[in-house]
Amino acid sequence: MKHILITTVTLLFCLIQTGRSQQAIATESCASRCSIESAAAFLQMAQRAMQGTQPAEADWQKLFATEGYQRLFEVMGDKWKGYIRQAFPVAFDPTRQAALDSLSAKPAQGWSVEEFMMHNFASMKPHIDELEALLTQSHFDELFRRADARVREFLPEKYRQATPRYKDFHFVCMDPESRTMEGDIFMDVYSFFYEGEQGMVNLLAHEMHHTFWDLPYAEKYRETDDAVIRTLRRMQVEGMADMINKITMPTDRLGAYGPEFIEMYNQAYADTPEALQVLDEMVQGYLDKQVPQDIYDAATEVALYGGHTGGDYMVFLIRDRLGMEAAVNMCGDIVAFVKLYNEAARQAGTYVFSDRFVNHVEKVMEGLRKGKDKNGSSGK
Ligand SMILES: [Zn+2]
Repeated sequence: MKHILITTVTLLFCLIQTGRSQQAIATESCASRCSIESAAAFLQMAQRAMQGTQPAEADWQKLFATEGYQRLFEVMGDKWKGYIRQAFPVAFDPTRQAALDSLSAKPAQGWSVEEFMMHNFASMKPHIDELEALLTQSHFDELFRRADARVREFLPEKYRQATPRYKDFHFVCMDPESRTMEGDIFMDVYSFFYEGEQGMVNLLAHEMHHTFWDLPYAEKYRETDDAVIRTLRRMQVEGMADMINKITMPTDRLGAYGPEFIEMYNQAYADTPEALQVLDEMVQGYLDKQVPQDIYDAATEVALYGGHTGGDYMVFLIRDRLGMEAAVNMCGDIVAFVKLYNEAARQAGTYVFSDRFVNHVEKVMEGLRKGKDKNGSSGK
């Protein structure tokens, strides 16, 4: 198996720490694993298909047995095998050109997952050699080293020297996405390549930032199912990490997605004040017992695009009005996020959360503080 072990400070240090408690490992170990064998095997299959040799059943079995795909199917389900098998020949079998042409004629808003894959696979065709060159160990090691240095520019002073164990990265060929699912990160290698050298570093650093965000949170708070807190968390986590690789909004770049998606994404960003008001009114209605629990529990639907658009709106406003230091230092602190946002929003004349909303968030977070029981009284 082809693996790259990424080390940030010294690997030896990590290995000798393994006997320590879980928490110590989480904050003091410094290795991350990254599998690239799935992407490499896919590219070889694509090369052969473009030259006229279509994959046999045994080739598919071999490809899907590589680690990245194996983990992806465990998380996303076996139907994803079908999507890839359906998309592959449309992109790489020269006799299927007509199917590819008819996809191009269809508006991207209506595309299914497999159609996004077809489009993505077709887009990578002129770049197969460059993609194969990218997947060399030394190049990857260097990208991860640079990303590890980059992410530290976006951390509170206290965590800049921290060496958490990053989640495992798996490079595969799929739709133009990177996904963090159940502790693993799945990255489409073409979308990654599409970003260009600094974009790749920034994208890796974005994912690494998610690991760092958890550190201050976990020091103070327990995990929660509270939908409003989860919504705010999602927005803060993505908005903060987007300071690394999205940087400004509205955007004219959205990875390997097409221009229609940029428009939809920018629209959701512009609609954030209305979305925040919905969230606020939902909480107030809930406190007044007019909004039932199941509606409150659906609050996460306010966080469109995984929380990116709303998060970008709130975090970038904090950064631009109150400064980068304020935006960086609120890491893992949801109450600070809401309060800083309100301060910036007042300055900017945009939607400000009600006092009742802010008090509710504070109260829920207070109840989640470690060292306290669920009623908020001090424990041992
Ligand atoms: Zn993210």
